[in-house]
Amino acid sequence: KEWELIDIREGIHDTLQLTSNRIKYYDIQINLEEVPKIRANPAALNQVWTNIILNAADAMGKNGSLDIYCTAEDDHIRVRIKDLGPGIPEEIIYNIFDSNFSTKKSDVKFGLGLGLSISRDIIKQHGGTISARNDPDGGAVFTVTLPIRN
Ligand code: ADP
Ligand code: MG
Repeated sequence: KEWELIDIREGIHDTLQLTSNRIKYYDIQINLEEVPKIRANPAALNQVWTNIILNAADAMGKNGSLDIYCTAEDDHIRVRIKDLGPGIPEEIIYNIFDSNFSTKKSDVKFGLGLGLSISRDIIKQHGGTISARNDPDGGAVFTVTLPIRN
């Protein structure tokens, strides 16, 4: 019953509402093209968007910019979330999806390091992929793909 036919753009909009306190100083560009509905667990997907957006907020601090794009490709939907933070240090970029991996172990920022690990599990359960890279222009880009099944 948790799985329904959904328009994932609604979950992205809901997540932006819920995180609006943390991202209100950002220059936010949202470009969500019309995409086919998919069978998905909306609460679980919202956890993924929330974690990516709050990670971006942690990386950027008070001022920043967030670009969110959603496009329909041949057989999948692609969501790209790009921030203008410092990017992911090259020496940890292959570890960030590991469970318990976090660079937020200070008094100021504390993280359990579970967000991306759980996100990857959720996206796998949907038959999709999640990956991270640094943009040449600066900042981190997280890309999620979700299959469209007829
Ligand atoms: P947590 O947020 O609890 O630290 P996550 O699994 O969500 O755990 O993220 C793991 C690590 O990946 C973070 O501690 C951080 O070092 C890195 N990371 C995630 N998102 C970004 C980002 N947008 N920019 C830079 N580093 C990031
Ligand atoms: Mg996190």
